[in-house]
Amino acid sequence: MTKPLEQVLLTPGPTPIEPHAQKALSFPMRGHMDPEVFAVNARVQENLLTLYGANSSAFTCLLAGTGSLGMEAGFANLLEPSDHVLICANGSFGYRMAEMSERLGANVTVVKAPIGQAIQLEDVKAALEKQAFKLVAVVHGETSTGVLNPAVEIAKLAKSYGCLVTVDAVTTAGMMPYHMSDWGIDYSYTGSQKCLSAPPGVAPVAFSSAAIAAVEARKSKVPLWYADLEGLQAYWNRREYHHTVPVQLHYALDAALTAALAEGLEARAIRVHEVGAAALAALETIGFSAFVHRPEERLPTVLAVRLPDHVQDVPVRSGLRDHGVIVTGGLGETAGKIWRLGLMGESARPAIYHRFFDALEKVLGVKGLITAFDKHLAVRA
Ligand SMILES: *Cc1c(COP(=O)(O)O)cnc(C)c1O
Repeated sequence: MTKPLEQVLLTPGPTPIEPHAQKALSFPMRGHMDPEVFAVNARVQENLLTLYGANSSAFTCLLAGTGSLGMEAGFANLLEPSDHVLICANGSFGYRMAEMSERLGANVTVVKAPIGQAIQLEDVKAALEKQAFKLVAVVHGETSTGVLNPAVEIAKLAKSYGCLVTVDAVTTAGMMPYHMSDWGIDYSYTGSQKCLSAPPGVAPVAFSSAAIAAVEARKSKVPLWYADLEGLQAYWNRREYHHTVPVQLHYALDAALTAALAEGLEARAIRVHEVGAAALAALETIGFSAFVHRPEERLPTVLAVRLPDHVQDVPVRSGLRDHGVIVTGGLGETAGKIWRLGLMGESARPAIYHRFFDALEKVLGVKGLITAFDKHLAVRA
């Protein structure tokens, strides 16, 4: 097989692979029950506590699947048929949560917000006043629209009503402060290919001690054998066989996670803010504008920008692809109107945005984008 040409991924997942993770992919094969693999797993579990800001009574592990398995595993473990669940939905991933809960036979209530706007705390409170819920779930950063939801406030509110809380941390944990135990979150998950810049295929998850107790108190069996907390604990805590884990993906995730913590979670949060602000400033010089109106509702890791009239979505993105730069458009009602620029993990690097602006200058026949980006970065640095 000939090696494919290099591409610059500005997609909101997958992200460019972190160099140590890329190297780890070629480590020699080991069995899933080998002590070396268990040593890697133990380090991953410990580091995930840090990533999620969870205390040592939480259970962390990797699921052998993508972020959506992380989402589904949470509902499958925490919900029993006819349990009441409150889902906050203002984009594709929130609605995916509702769909999964429905399939599990739960009683689903959805609190909505319009596309491009955050979930309102008063709407969540109104729903909680009406009836009791076992679980409240919210997507922290809605990738489909670039909206940051007030997950921390929602979690605190839901806790005060005695609910369990699930927060989708796919676009936030690892790139923004995340404090599961302080915020009262019981279950969180992400995907390896998002903020950690590892290859896709494993989903890092965390269950709080209250979530573990809730699973232990179930009357019915967890409907998904593969993601049953008990089976996961058998392998990850007691080192018993459950299923054959993807060893190479564990190596790569371990390397990427170690690198992220070495850089520092605060340093990463600063990096994503600086690169994102400079990218928006440069795009504004040619008529792009932020899709999300309220600055405090903008997700730092996915920059959603509205296209100016003179920029045609599909032809310009295919022109960028000819220069090896991959950009994602809108979904559903935002298709053709917005781009969603990834700033997760390795994509939030000035070098990546230089490649993007260089290609954009060529495709649009404009000048000054790289200069504008650098100027803004220098002012802030
Ligand atoms: C990408 C994403 C998911 C799903 O992850 P997959 O790895 O595509 O299965 C879930 N939630 C959010 C917010 C995401 O961005």
